[in-house]
Amino acid sequence: MRSGPASRSAALDGTDAVPHDFSAQRRAISSATNAAPIAPLPDQSLTPSRPSIVCTLWRVARYLCGAAALVWLTETVQAQGGNRPQFFLPIACELGKDCFVQNYFDTDPGPGAQDFSCGGATYDGHKGIDIRLISNRETEKSYPVLAAASGKVRGVRDGMPDLLLRRQHASALANRECGNGVVIEHDEGWETQYCHLRQGSVAVKQGMRVTAGQMLGSVGFSGMADFAHVHFEVRHQGKPIDPFTGQPANATCMVDPATPASLWAGDVNALGAALQGAIIEAVFSASPPDLARAEDGLIVSPVTTESTQIFQAARLINLRRGDRVQISLTGPANFKTVSQAPPLDRNKAIVVVVSSAKRGPPSWPEGAYTGGVQILRNGAVIQTTTTSLMLQRNNQGR
Ligand SMILES: [Zn+2]
Repeated sequence: MRSGPASRSAALDGTDAVPHDFSAQRRAISSATNAAPIAPLPDQSLTPSRPSIVCTLWRVARYLCGAAALVWLTETVQAQGGNRPQFFLPIACELGKDCFVQNYFDTDPGPGAQDFSCGGATYDGHKGIDIRLISNRETEKSYPVLAAASGKVRGVRDGMPDLLLRRQHASALANRECGNGVVIEHDEGWETQYCHLRQGSVAVKQGMRVTAGQMLGSVGFSGMADFAHVHFEVRHQGKPIDPFTGQPANATCMVDPATPASLWAGDVNALGAALQGAIIEAVFSASPPDLARAEDGLIVSPVTTESTQIFQAARLINLRRGDRVQISLTGPANFKTVSQAPPLDRNKAIVVVVSSAKRGPPSWPEGAYTGGVQILRNGAVIQTTTTSLMLQRNNQGR
């Protein structure tokens, strides 16, 4: 039996870990200080761009990668009808597994910020919803951005690099905040916009007719983006509309996302799940992850029986004031550690938590280890995820 395991944990939000411009960080800052709005508003007039050979390849890839979305379409096509538009999920991904809603529409027309359920999973002036990937690294898998409804392409832009806002000057993005994007006109004055697509991925041209579910490009982080995501925006007669309520910003709350007012044609509950917070990544590492580059994806080093410490890092989104993150590690010979980060002092869009456990002599016992990450709210566990680690000496090259 091991003796004397030590563990510690620390909660680091975007502000602490990444001292740069960061939309999630901006949310935390603005909620704390009522700072002037500096939200990235996507430009609405996109200029045509030239298609490329790469676009063609990605268009083919869509049929391979878009299977999840096709299933989604099949399940929800019955929901269409009436004069109100019905929008399909604008990205081919599995919500809650490889993509998450980071920011919802800001329903507060004033200087505050409020999502449609009266929560804080948005930031002031946000006119769409941001469906994010786990990290920038995931954009290499070319997650397809899909037309949410049939219509005609009003404008496109391509050719802008995928570069986080914190690594470039915002002034260089003036009037191009959307990055690589597409605007589609639908019937009766409705319009949808898709922003921050991956450079070279835009697969449609101005004037083209597209059908619901058609690939427009791939998720990236071009333009004014702090993380890999598609900013999806709905407008009616030019006015931004929250697809969850079918209303413009009006500061009313609608707790149930499955209300008939929703413009979504699909699993609205899955889209609304991240309102409550989500654990988007949990890893083991033999060395501390580089938190400053967390949006690129946590870089980890393999844990062995000889590692001095086992680090566990987790990234979480949309946590609330008072939430605590708990990390546990269990293993052979009744090994167990549990640590809790301090309660959050305010709502936070992105939280990174790191815990470490030290081994006692002579080494970590061989066998299966399980890491747990939990979100505690008002003393109750509201989210949990587990990760597995197998330690064997014969896997370590000696
Ligand atoms: Zn956005």
